[in-house]
Amino acid sequence: MPRPIINEDECSACGICVDACESGVLELASEVAKAVHEENCTGCAACMEECPMGAIEEIEED
Ligand code: SF4
Ligand code: SF4
Repeated sequence: MPRPIINEDECSACGICVDACESGVLELASEVAKAVHEENCTGCAACMEECPMGAIEEIEED
């Protein structure tokens, strides 16, 4: 299962990744982006590619 990992120290809370994710995985909470529905992540990488801060990476887990 893919899931996004957000580096909270790098995140500027711009919300671009929230808009980029068509699966509704990401939300802004407490001034950072959070993966609130990571079970819905398809691994499309749109969030990672759109993040201007380079704050998102994806990992694969079983
Ligand atoms: S990889 Fe795709 S589906 Fe997963 S959180 Fe990022 S934008 Fe959403
Ligand atoms: S696109 Fe990057 S900097 Fe902007 S809210 Fe998402 S993780 Fe944070």
